[in-house]
Amino acid sequence: MPDKRSALLANLWDEKKAAAMSEPERLVYRSNLLGSDKRVTNYGGGNTSSKIMQKDPLTGEMVEVLWVKGSGGDSASIKLDGFATLYMDKLRALKGLYRGPDHEDEMVGYLPHCTFNLNPRAASIDTPLHAYVPKPFVDHMHPDAIIAIAAAKDSRALTKTVFGDAIGWLPWRRPGYELGLWLEKFCKENPKAKGVVLESHGLFTWGDTPEECYRTTIDTINAAIEWFDGQTSGKPAFGGAAVKALAPQERRAVAARLMPKIRGMISGAISKVGHFDDSEAVLEFVNSEKLRPLAALGTSCPDHFLRTKIRPLVIDFDPARPDVEAVAARLADDVAAYRADYQAYYDRCRHGNSPAVRDPNAVVYLIPGIGMLTFAADKATARIAGEFYVNAINVMRGASAVSDYVGLPEQEAFDIEYWLLEEAKLQRMPKPKSLAGRVALVTGGAGGIGKATAIRLLREGACVVLADIDATALEVANGELGTAFGKDFVRSIRLDVTSEEDVAAGFASTVVEFGGLDILVSNAGISSSAPIENTELSMWNRNMDILAKGYFLVSREAFRLFKRQAIGGNVVFIASKNGLAASPNAAAYCTAKAAEIHLARCLALEGAEHQIRVNTVNPDAVLRGSKIWTGEWREQRAAAYSMQPDELEEHYRKRSMLKRSVFPEDIAEAVYFLASDMSAKSTGNIVNVDAGNAQSFTR
Ligand code: NAD
Repeated sequence: MPDKRSALLANLWDEKKAAAMSEPERLVYRSNLLGSDKRVTNYGGGNTSSKIMQKDPLTGEMVEVLWVKGSGGDSASIKLDGFATLYMDKLRALKGLYRGPDHEDEMVGYLPHCTFNLNPRAASIDTPLHAYVPKPFVDHMHPDAIIAIAAAKDSRALTKTVFGDAIGWLPWRRPGYELGLWLEKFCKENPKAKGVVLESHGLFTWGDTPEECYRTTIDTINAAIEWFDGQTSGKPAFGGAAVKALAPQERRAVAARLMPKIRGMISGAISKVGHFDDSEAVLEFVNSEKLRPLAALGTSCPDHFLRTKIRPLVIDFDPARPDVEAVAARLADDVAAYRADYQAYYDRCRHGNSPAVRDPNAVVYLIPGIGMLTFAADKATARIAGEFYVNAINVMRGASAVSDYVGLPEQEAFDIEYWLLEEAKLQRMPKPKSLAGRVALVTGGAGGIGKATAIRLLREGACVVLADIDATALEVANGELGTAFGKDFVRSIRLDVTSEEDVAAGFASTVVEFGGLDILVSNAGISSSAPIENTELSMWNRNMDILAKGYFLVSREAFRLFKRQAIGGNVVFIASKNGLAASPNAAAYCTAKAAEIHLARCLALEGAEHQIRVNTVNPDAVLRGSKIWTGEWREQRAAAYSMQPDELEEHYRKRSMLKRSVFPEDIAEAVYFLASDMSAKSTGNIVNVDAGNAQSFTR
């Protein structure tokens, strides 16, 4: 880590609180405290354990049980059910089955046989590391400040300098059964040691009480932070700055220009979502003298490179002479060169039984003066990959300030990346949802049909941008959907679809937030009603502006973006039955809706050769949830049919051929069909969702 500006870690242990807890609850408490500070451990990284005496459900006798963080999950939010529980006597007995380091992977298969109390949580690969440390409470963390020591060329000597005999050192060994035995041996030979630094990996600490274990972890990390402070004070990081960052707005503009292009090149069978980070730590690194040599060394901690790939792709960009078009033109070569490098690494390191080569594209893209782009199959993974690379930057900053930073030997890195156990974990992952990795923008997303559509697309795993003119409704919808589907998946942008500038800015923001766009749902709308002789020019123009011009502006921007991205695209218009069927006293609205429908057909024709599909959904009489049915329109429509406003829904139901009411969710279902690959071979189509109306039959 060693960022001298960051404060030391606080000891947050509350003994009164802890005293009231059971031993397993204290383990959850300790884990949550540790995991909640990213300086202590990265997302999902590290694990904690307690050896607890419990009554055996089989014999009724008291037995020693290892509670250890199970496979998957994050220490910050782990609960009791996140821990695996195993009989310690059985874990010890496994030593009798061990055939040596070449066979250590087979030991993983025995772990389920050691399960205590039918606990379904799978034990992780780190289980033997905790089991064989002969102490009741053990923390294993990945603090940047410690990994900076662990990834330095002379990490053994540095460990001694910083911690004396209190914390020992073990050379690199990938996590597994053998490392568990190494830890046991270390503890037996060094009974006074409170922990150990694992080369290129992280920290193990232990104690006789949970509090002591926690305190040792915090104190050890703080000692490293303080030591680095002393060493690096006054020295420029990474050899000093080679270039200056552009202003924040310009950085975003460059990201908006490059992200869809990269996304298009690296989205094959799997669609990718992007993340942009121009934080201070990132800029310091990408602007520095040592950017290229350090980036080329690769990340060291296995946790880091499993998320980030060993190396990032450094994009050649000179912020002093910013020529983003030249960079964009070179991107295809850069991406191809990275892939070729990755394939060569695979070919050099593969074993006879290695899994097939995985996606050869870079995850992390570094741009001097601009920041870092990361791409992954979903937003959370892209964001977390970025966070991991920041961890790696912190490690490189520390290690290269006090020594030489070293990455893992290539073969070791490969053996982790293509470990059969890692592959088994990937194979166990649930199948992605049908719109995973897709990005959708829904205009009028804070309204009835727009929000229902957003929900439908989110349920299928899409990232959704709600775009609406109504800031208050937008805030409410954004909060609601963020809570329901996770903040990573939802963004909101206030924009007026009739404004060229708003639309351009909204699309640019979408791109910076998610890396590109796959689906545009043009839905923003209003309604109006008046006999033709009373239709003011302003009413006519308002309908034409929002419904015709607005649909044109957002489609044009989407087409520009889709063509740059070059992986097709999908546009769905929410028009209206009234675009096909004439309706009394609504000429402006009906005419504008007819314009939308014809615009969609024209665009279907233009888009086809670029795999851009354009289809239309025609709703009718969707009263529930719709804001256009709350105001004047409702009263005017009721007056037009000589009835009370609250009789309208029943009137429309009876008027329909199927005698059914139409809801926002029904429209959303049709949008989902047209936006998904289920309709991959449909364009220029119209789907009426109106419970049947002969007047709007298409022909
Ligand atoms: P709604 O009023 O609930 O939602 C429309 C949304 O569009 C609102 O949130 C509004 O703020 C937004 N909007 C209006 N002007 C905008 C602008 N200039 N820029 C950006 N956003 C703007 O209505 P709804 O029923 O959900 O309608 C959605 C679409 O469905 C509209 O195009 C409408 O014409 C069409 N439609 C609705 C029905 C129906 O019965 N509800 C029937 C046929 C067609």
